[in-house]
Amino acid sequence: MMGFWWRPLGVLASVLLVALILWASSGWVAALGFLAGVQAFVMLRRLWQEFRLSRWLENPDEVDPPDATGTWGDIFYRLQKLQRRQRASRSELTTALEQFEHAAQAVPDGMIILNDNEQIDWCNPASRTYLGLDSDRDRGQFVRYLLRQAHFLEFLDAADYSRRLVCKSPINREVSLSLQLVPFGEGKKLLVARDITELERVDAMRRDFIANVSHELRTPLTVVGGFVETLADAPDLPASESRRYFDLMLDHTRRMQRLLDDLLTLSRLESADHSLKDELVNVQELAQALKAEAESLSRGRHRVSLQLDSGAWLKGNLQEIRSALGNLVSNAVRYTPEGGEIILAWRECDGEAVFSVTDSGEGIAAEHIPRLTERFYRVDRSRSRETGGTGLGLAIVKHVLTRHGARLEIQSIPGKGSTFSAIFPAQRLQHAPESGKIIPFPEREQAAG
Ligand code: ADP
Repeated sequence: MMGFWWRPLGVLASVLLVALILWASSGWVAALGFLAGVQAFVMLRRLWQEFRLSRWLENPDEVDPPDATGTWGDIFYRLQKLQRRQRASRSELTTALEQFEHAAQAVPDGMIILNDNEQIDWCNPASRTYLGLDSDRDRGQFVRYLLRQAHFLEFLDAADYSRRLVCKSPINREVSLSLQLVPFGEGKKLLVARDITELERVDAMRRDFIANVSHELRTPLTVVGGFVETLADAPDLPASESRRYFDLMLDHTRRMQRLLDDLLTLSRLESADHSLKDELVNVQELAQALKAEAESLSRGRHRVSLQLDSGAWLKGNLQEIRSALGNLVSNAVRYTPEGGEIILAWRECDGEAVFSVTDSGEGIAAEHIPRLTERFYRVDRSRSRETGGTGLGLAIVKHVLTRHGARLEIQSIPGKGSTFSAIFPAQRLQHAPESGKIIPFPEREQAAG
């Protein structure tokens, strides 16, 4: 700051020195005249610089401060520095604000800023999707007038910031929302609306699943428990009678065992760290084994045939593919009345490979078909139980096929029969595999077992 004074004091000292010299040489009139002249020059210069400053101040953002020398130059230079610093911090602020706006627009949750009167200050695009609010149209509106549901008004009045309100979206009843109020600043609030539809669906599925499993286990457990009590209370029961009870208990125990096995298979297939182990599966050999299995399940009640039109091998997990196709075969036997026909086929079509199981059984009405792969979904519950079904077979099939990038197609005509086709994509097929690498099917089966 001292630097500021040196120059003007230097100039003043020089002027006074010249005035003194003039006084001594030409008298006081000349000295005073000189001083008056200098004074007039300083005033005019100052007026000019003040004019330039005031002109600049009219529009300081658009143009740089004026140029000058001396003290005024120093002042203008400082003003310019100040202006640059301000511009830099304003641009930093604008960038930060823009980033915030972009982030807020990208946030999947609805976010609404309310002022201390509960008027909308700002809201992001997601709040339009969930609550029908629009930042431009609704700015300054009272949120109570726009969202009038009684439970929302109660929630606002309660101002309990630890509470969440679960409700349906006012513009789409299919969407469930969780609303939360977060206080900030002076009397401001952030209203956050989160889409919890998927969470609620998963929760409902979990509840249904537990209810279904309990229901499935309750019947056999009640039956086995009843027989055990009867046998305990009547030790002198005739041997033939107790034999019948033991057989029934064994039946129900096996049913529970099958249910638990299927549940474990499903849970293994669903677990994230259960990755797919690829091997080469000789489908023709597998189809022969499945045919033998069908014949043994059918015990001569059906005609079972095989149509092998493709020699392609499958890249996939033998155990899983065997279990999926085995389920289709066992269903065909279980849902086809005596004397019916079952055809297992392996063929290629448009680059894909299809393993199909066709039966001449009871068939399925069209409305049931899309739901057959849901867990525990059965067209006829008692028919499924009578034949030893768990209601999980097709759910397992769907999981296995999805893991192999394959899909299940079901065609059925009630009263005539059904065709279940597992369709594998081209990249899962291998023609003429290198013989050295292949383990023959029965040995692999033993190894897997
Ligand atoms: P389940 O153990 O009951 O057979 P699945 O998941 O294997 O369970 O099959 C679900 C339902 O699909 C069965 O209960 C049955 O109603 C129907 N279904 C499956 N396969 C056939 C078929 N080949 N013919 C007729 N209905 C079938």
